[in-house]
Amino acid sequence: MSVIYDNLATVTEQIAIAARAVGRLPADIKLLAVSKTFPPEDVRTAYNWGQRAFGENYVQEGVEKIFALSDLRSNIEWHFIGPIQSNKSRDVAENFDWVHSIDRLKIAQRLNDQRPASLAPLNVCIQVNISGEATKSGVQEADLLDLCLAIISMPKLRLRGLMSIPEPTSNGQEQKKAHHDLFTMLNRLKSQLSTQASLVNLDTLSMGMSSDMASAIAEGSTMVRVGTAIFGKRNYL
Ligand SMILES: *Cc1c(COP(=O)(O)O)cnc(C)c1O
Repeated sequence: MSVIYDNLATVTEQIAIAARAVGRLPADIKLLAVSKTFPPEDVRTAYNWGQRAFGENYVQEGVEKIFALSDLRSNIEWHFIGPIQSNKSRDVAENFDWVHSIDRLKIAQRLNDQRPASLAPLNVCIQVNISGEATKSGVQEADLLDLCLAIISMPKLRLRGLMSIPEPTSNGQEQKKAHHDLFTMLNRLKSQLSTQASLVNLDTLSMGMSSDMASAIAEGSTMVRVGTAIFGKRNYL
């Protein structure tokens, strides 16, 4: 038996416990297995356990992994969750099913233009700079509505929700506040965009990682992005 199997079982159980603790259904929280830095064989192991959604941070590494696992392509959902440089957007548009890290109009436009007509629209989340630090990527709340409206008008993108990477902290109150803030922002957006309800289904709150999963679920996360707790410690990043 693989340690990855054990870890997936443990994480799945932790998600269920965190969900039930606040009266949510475990099935309403999707597990995204973050496989960055780990080889294709580890993804295959997780796949054999039953995991179907995987997240990658680096374009080239992600694309190589998708190719290496091309026999599984139609059964895997590949999510891009890292920073996107303009000159890499085509690889993202052509190879992934989801992008969580849209943080500016230019990138959204490029992904829309470069998404092949033969593929379904790219599912996208906007990354919000929740802690408000100038150095971190993510849009500021003040710019969020305009970016959403622009994306809604793009035929090859499907706006699904918001994503955040809060400042790491072991302080439970700070974790909770960051998660709650994103939940509040998504709800505000839903009401601001209610007249466009036929065009958007904002069903995704991508928040929570190995160390803050339970808090994120308590505050409404619908997708947790978990790397370390499944695949083990990374040697870089
Ligand atoms: C690496 C990464 C994760 C997973 O983090 P862990 O702490 O290993 O669970 C989640 N989201 C993003 C954006 C990441 O870059």
